Amino acid sequence: MLNIPPFCPKCSRHLGTHPKNTKCMNCSRAELFFDFAWCACFFEDPLKDLIHQFKYNQKTQLSGQFSKLMVHFIKEYHMDIEQFDFMVPIPLHPTRKRERGYNQSFLLASQLSRIFNINLNINLLIKTKNTKNQSLLSKKERWTNITGAFKIKNPNEVNNKSILLIDDLLTTGATSSEAAKALKSAGAKTVGVFTLAGTKLER
Ligand SMILES: [Zn+2]
Repeated sequence: MLNIPPFCPKCSRHLGTHPKNTKCMNCSRAELFFDFAWCACFFEDPLKDLIHQFKYNQKTQLSGQFSKLMVHFIKEYHMDIEQFDFMVPIPLHPTRKRERGYNQSFLLASQLSRIFNINLNINLLIKTKNTKNQSLLSKKERWTNITGAFKIKNPNEVNNKSILLIDDLLTTGATSSEAAKALKSAGAKTVGVFTLAGTKLER
């Protein structure tokens, strides 16, 4: 369940037999606007099912166990989380948030913010486009669906800052990349991504 090296230098997903220190197929093909991503676990059962419960079935109490897995990853691989000025959870569109009642990325981010003592900024990045559920779309559709979905509320808070985006899952990287793009165009120095799980790389 826990992600293990060798990691892709860009997205940290397990490279398997892919040549070490070279980007995975996904990262070499796509233009990703974040500087790097960390994935704590593999997106496979039983975690896969638990993430589903967490997102769609109100099992918000899982955020405690999930954040422990994320903390383990940082400590085990000595990831430099101290470099970040603040964390930003990937926001939901207000309509989606209302339906669900909570934002699962915010729940993870608030645990991590407390554990690592790094500020949380939740009013900065907003989702202005109510996109379709990415998991129901093809790889290509995901990129079109998410384009232009995020806006920055206070660009002056972003300028020259190192920002860590928090999300539950890294798949194509389209969502994180689009959020990173918005932050970078507002002047962010570094944008990292930290997710609970990453899908396995295709061969
Ligand atoms: Zn990669």
